[in-house]
Amino acid sequence: MPRWRIPLSDLAYGRSEEKAAIRVLRGRWLSMGPEVEAFEQEFASFVGSEHAVAVASGTAALHLSFLALGLGRGDEIIQPAINFVAAANMTLAAGATPVFADIVGFEEPTLDPDSVRRVMTPRTRAVIAMHYGGYPARMDELESICRERHLYLIEDACHAVGAHYRSRIRLEERMVGALGDIACFSFFSNKNLAVGEGGMVTTSSEDLARRVARLRSHGMTTLTWDRHRGHANSYDVDVHGYNYRLDEMRAAIGRVQLRKLKQNNRRRNELTAAYRRELNGMPGWTFAFGDYSGDSSCHLAVVVAPDRSARDGVVQRLKSAGIQSSLHYPFLPHFTAFRSYRSAGLDRSIAFAERSVTLPLFPAMKESEVEQICALLHSGERVKRGHGR
Ligand SMILES: *Cc1c(COP(=O)(O)O)cnc(C)c1O
Repeated sequence: MPRWRIPLSDLAYGRSEEKAAIRVLRGRWLSMGPEVEAFEQEFASFVGSEHAVAVASGTAALHLSFLALGLGRGDEIIQPAINFVAAANMTLAAGATPVFADIVGFEEPTLDPDSVRRVMTPRTRAVIAMHYGGYPARMDELESICRERHLYLIEDACHAVGAHYRSRIRLEERMVGALGDIACFSFFSNKNLAVGEGGMVTTSSEDLARRVARLRSHGMTTLTWDRHRGHANSYDVDVHGYNYRLDEMRAAIGRVQLRKLKQNNRRRNELTAAYRRELNGMPGWTFAFGDYSGDSSCHLAVVVAPDRSARDGVVQRLKSAGIQSSLHYPFLPHFTAFRSYRSAGLDRSIAFAERSVTLPLFPAMKESEVEQICALLHSGERVKRGHGR
């Protein structure tokens, strides 16, 4: 049992997930097969992309996307300095070089298109847009940079399953996962669609989808499932691949979670609105995406303190009250393994990492819990202002 009175996140699981798992156990086929195929089809049609390829994790999705795009030695991939470490690690795993760019600001901690322009070199081959907290990055601007310079646009959509992006250029709304050349999703336990470990690659390119699928399973031209059904009895290996497959039990649970996603995201939206009511306008503090009016998956509730000690104070007060909080994310080039990738002009990312805190947010949370958390934040501010007088 969790020791927190209010955890950072919690699974939205019930009887249907149990039934799906039991269905797979009784069907006696555990490795990639019909459940995975069905999950891929359902996910592609949900996102509005031509193809979806299920993989073992969001990290595997990133790795295979880079390889399928042919990114490797000598290539630079521009990505936000505020991101989970997976994209940067997989950039290096593919043999390419991560180049970090700054975020727009505290209100909008996603990749800043102007910063992307500043760090571009002749070796730049791709840009990773991470939809922080479930809020789409500035895709119109990033898309026009990528088109102008013939770069690939990759979505790290791990926070943003179910989010929409309203394009001002195209005058249309599309779902995250159908905005760039290729997109990567994670179904890790704390994500909006959770299966434990799992991920998905979406793309509208048949060629990219075929390459990701081939790399996912050792570069083999047929699957165990095909051979089991008598559809094939041998195979060739035409590329050096991996075992990044998703299994049937997780796919079955993923299908249930996908059916519940709209409702769960709506609940996250309501709770985010409650946070905004309580925190917007708190002097010196910024509620990230506090003015956002589009359709977000509301994966994270993040507040930015006036300075580092105010942030650390809040984390401490929440902890004493049994409330879990987190940091999304430390400034990437401060990690030991990324020190040599540090570059100038990342000031907003550094400040964001020093001053932000992620508050609990999950579908089963109650409005009264949001209010308790916000009261703790407000009480700290009152104490501080009181001492100042
Ligand atoms: C979770 C996450 C990943 C990694 O996904 P895994 O499924 O845990 O491998 C990558 N990028 C972002 C932004 C994430 O939130």
